[in-house]
Order: sequence, then C-alpha cells, then structure tokens
Amino acid sequence: MATINTALGPKDTSELGFTLSHEHILLSSAGLQTTYPEFINRDYGISEGIKRLTEAKAEGVDTIIDLSTMDLGRDVRVIEEVSRGSGVNVIVATGTWRDVPRSFEQADPDDIAPLYTREIEVGIEGTGIKAGVIKVANEPDVSPAGEIILRAAARTQKTTGTPIYTHTLATNRVGDRQIEIFEDEGIDLNRVCIGHSNDTTDLDYLKGLLDKGVWLGLDRYPGQIVTWQERTQIVYKLIEAGYGTRLMLSHDWSVAARMMPKERIAQRAATNPDNYLFITRNVLPMLLKLRASQSQIDDLMINNPRAFFEG
Ligand SMILES: [Zn+2]
Repeated sequence: MATINTALGPKDTSELGFTLSHEHILLSSAGLQTTYPEFINRDYGISEGIKRLTEAKAEGVDTIIDLSTMDLGRDVRVIEEVSRGSGVNVIVATGTWRDVPRSFEQADPDDIAPLYTREIEVGIEGTGIKAGVIKVANEPDVSPAGEIILRAAARTQKTTGTPIYTHTLATNRVGDRQIEIFEDEGIDLNRVCIGHSNDTTDLDYLKGLLDKGVWLGLDRYPGQIVTWQERTQIVYKLIEAGYGTRLMLSHDWSVAARMMPKERIAQRAATNPDNYLFITRNVLPMLLKLRASQSQIDDLMINNPRAFFEG
C-alpha cells in the first residue's frame, strides 16, 4: 500500500485503476496565460476536458498522468476542475519539458532540485496541489541544459522517492543517454519510465532499456511515423519476450484549446477521433486478437502504473 498525490489530494495507489501513463489536458507555454490569455481558450479547455474525460471514465479510464510542466503552461487549477468534473484521477507533474528556462542553463542541479521538491512536498503555485511524478524531456539529444534538468530530477527522485517519467526522441536512442546520467547519479532505475518509446520499431533498443531495469512508456497512440498497428505488434512482441510487467500505454493527447489553424484541428480530430479512448477502443481489442490475455492487458493498464508508483 502506498499513497500518491493527485490533483484532488492523496489517494491510495489501489484506487488508481485503469491508468493512462502520459496525457495532457491543456497544453500551452510558460507565461502565455498571464501575458497573452486570448491565445488560450481556458474555459474551453475546462469544458472540453471534462467532456472528453467524462466519456473516458464511462468506458473505464480511472486515472491519467498529466505530464504538463511549467514550460508546457501547466495550469493546476484547470487540472483540478477537470478532475473534479469528470471523476478521473489526475496525477500532476513537476519537472521541465524541452523549453528549459534560459535562466536554468547556467544553474547547478542542486539549485533546481529544491524547486521540484517544493512542488512535490508543499504544492504548486501556492495551491496545495502536489506533484506525484517528475517529468524530464530531451530531444533531439541530451543538451547541456537537458543534462542539468536530468540531474536535478535524479536528485529530487532520491530525496523524495517520486518517480521520473521522461520524454525522448526514440529514433535517436535518447533513452540510453538518459539512463547513463541516471546511473551516474546513482538512482534506482525501477523509479524511471523512459517515455515515447513507441515512436520506434527498434526492438533491440527497447529490450536494452528494459534490461537496465526501467519502465517503458509506449505512450504515443495513435501517433505518426509508426502506425498504431505496428506499435501494437511491438507491445505484443515485448509481452511475448517476458517484459509485459514493465510497460505502460498512453496517447500523449490533449484538448485543442490553444489557437491553431482550422485545418490542423481537423487533422488532429481525423487522426484520433477517439481522444483518450483510442487505446481502449482499438489497441486493447487488437492485443486480444494477437492472443494477449486479459490479465496481460490488466498488467499494462492497471497493475504496472500502480507498481511504478509503489516502487
Ligand atoms: Zn506529452
């Protein structure tokens, strides 16, 4: 038994249920809401977020991990309202995505780790809403600023016990480099999930990561470049190879609440008409057809996310 912080307060990990490991509700950028609020339709983000997650809840989604950080315009009040309105648990993130603040570039990781730690132990922006996971992002590779962030995340992991979930460019094998830095920091790789790992079909890379003891986030459904069917074949091959208790699935989806050309919005909706339910409606049925068992699917969607947080 363990407790995890959610947008609506602490929950027992046994209450997480069916969990999508990497999603967003509202995506933006640091400072936009304050300076150019007309660029983000915050009210639409809330109403559409509640609508989509209510639908998801009705088809069995209990929890999402919202991996939005400060530099992705994380708005914890939006997350809180959407969680309350939809009944879906939302785990909130601290950490930094790819828009590393310029001011961090010369910083010591030991001066950044306390910022993350405060968001885990005290709360985010004075709200009392506490982060339950640490997000880091490196693309196309690990830049000097990215390395500072990775080390700050690792040190926060060590002192708070909070797990780390990464963003990678899988085709560039960025997970390998992230693991090197985490090993150098001496953290437990069982507390690390290497994300966006289904943007590649390189099974050797994926098995190499898993053999280091990390979790894999196969979290870009339906995605581009690699088809969703190919992604699902990889999931099945990893299950067959004995890695089924180390994988988590998700969409990296969000509500389209920021200004976008109409064609882009239409293209997005055409690519994923199922929103947060693409996996439920398409991927899990295909896994069953490939002869995965229901208990193997329960590992992916229920037991693995829970174990990731329980350590
Ligand atoms: Zn994301």
